[in-house]
Amino acid sequence: MIKVRFAPSPTGFLHVGNVRTALVNWLFARKNAGHFLLRIDDTDTERSKTEYEAAIKEDLSWLSIAWDSLEHQSKRFDRYKIAAGKLTASGRLYACYETPEELDVQRKMLASRGLPPIYKRATEEQNKKYQAEGRKPHYRFSLHDEEITWEDLIRGHVAMKATTMSDPVLVRADGGPVYTLASVVDDGELAITHVIRGEDHVSNTAVQVQLYKALGFAVPQFAHMALLKTKDGEMSKRLGGNDIRALREAGILPMAVNSLLARIGTSDAVEPFATMAALAEGFDFKKFGRAPANYDVAELEKLNEKLLHQLPFTAVKDQLSFADEPFWLSIRANIKILPEAKQWWDILHGEVEADLNHDDRAFIRSTVTLLPPEPWNEATYDAWIAAIKPTTTRKGKELFMPLRLALTGREHGPELKKLLPLLGQKKVIIRLAGRVV
Ligand code: GLU
Repeated sequence: MIKVRFAPSPTGFLHVGNVRTALVNWLFARKNAGHFLLRIDDTDTERSKTEYEAAIKEDLSWLSIAWDSLEHQSKRFDRYKIAAGKLTASGRLYACYETPEELDVQRKMLASRGLPPIYKRATEEQNKKYQAEGRKPHYRFSLHDEEITWEDLIRGHVAMKATTMSDPVLVRADGGPVYTLASVVDDGELAITHVIRGEDHVSNTAVQVQLYKALGFAVPQFAHMALLKTKDGEMSKRLGGNDIRALREAGILPMAVNSLLARIGTSDAVEPFATMAALAEGFDFKKFGRAPANYDVAELEKLNEKLLHQLPFTAVKDQLSFADEPFWLSIRANIKILPEAKQWWDILHGEVEADLNHDDRAFIRSTVTLLPPEPWNEATYDAWIAAIKPTTTRKGKELFMPLRLALTGREHGPELKKLLPLLGQKKVIIRLAGRVV
C-alpha cells in the first residue's frame, strides 16, 4: 500500500508553502487509496512547542487534510539511537570534534584555493589531540564515493556524485539525532513508500539514499516539487501574510486555498473545486513542472469569490450563525469574502442612512403607495417598478438608484428583487417613508 508522510516541525505556524507539501501528499494518497501519516518533527526540543503542534493540526483539519496516523519524533529517540549504533557497528558513523569556528576556517581555506566546501576528515592524530582537550564528539555518516541516482516522480532521472558532498552530521554532541537520520529511520520503520517534499531537500535526498541502504531499508520513491514563488518575490501581506491561519481569519475558504495550491506549478488550469475528492481525481505527478510555482494572493481571492458564489447555506451556516438560507442565497453573489455577509445582514436588519436630494425624496414618496400587497416574492420588485413607471419620467439608474439608496444605503449590492422579500413590506415602507421626512 502507498504510504506518505507530511513532516512539519512544530516551530511555527503552517504557511502556504508547507500546506502545498501537505496537500500534494494527501492528494496522492487519496488518489491511490493510500495512507497519510502526520509526523511531527519535534527532535529540536528547545524550539518545538505543543502550541504549534496544536495549531498545525487545527490548520490541517480546517483544510480537510485528514491524517490516517500520527507519530512524534520525540517519542522515537530510542529508535534513532539503535540506528546510530548499527551505523557505528558497520563503520559508517565516525566521531568528529571540530568546533563550528574550525569548520568555518576549513571552508574558507578550501574556498581560497578554489575548492568546494567539502568536509575533510581529521587525522587520527588530530582527533587524539581533540579528545585530550576533553571535547565531546558529534558523529558523521561516511558517504560512499559513488554516484547516487533516483527516478524522481517530478524531476525524472537525478544523478549526484557523493564526492561533491560533505559527510553529514547525524548525531549531535549532546547525543541528539539530526533530522537527516531521524527522518530516514522513520521513513524506513514506518514503511513510507513515497517521500514528497520541496526541491530544497534534493541534496538531503542524495545523502539519505545512502542512509536508507546503510540501515537496510528499502529506498522510497521521491517527488521533489519546485518551490513556491510569490508574485512580487516576497511573501504577501495583503491578507495578513501567508500563514494559513491569517488566510482563515481573513475569511478565505479552505477549498480556495486547496484549489490554488493543488494546481499552481502544474499543467492544469487553476479552477475552483468544491470538494477534496474532485481535486484528488485529476492528481498526477506528470503534470508538475520544474519551474517555480507562482503563488498570487489575487488569484486566491478570485477563486474564493467563485467558490463563495456557489456555496450552499449548509456550508457556511456555522460561520453565519446569525443568518438564514433565504438571506444567504440572496446575498452570496455579491460578496467577495464571507465576513462581508454580516455587513449585508446588518444593512437588512439594522438602520441605514442615505444621502438623497429633494427631488429624489419627492420621487420616493410617490412610490410608497404603489408597493404591491403582501405576500412578497421575487416578482414583487418588477410589479412595483411596473406600477411606478407610468407615474414618472425617470428611467434606468435615475429611477432605481434612489430606491436602492433608500432601502440599503448603498449604491451597489444584491438585486433589489431579492432584497424586497427579505425586508418585507413593513420595513420597506418605513425605509421609504424615513427618507421623506
Ligand atoms: N521536518 C522536515 C521539514 O520540515 C521534513 C522534511 C521531509 O519531508 O523530510 O523540512
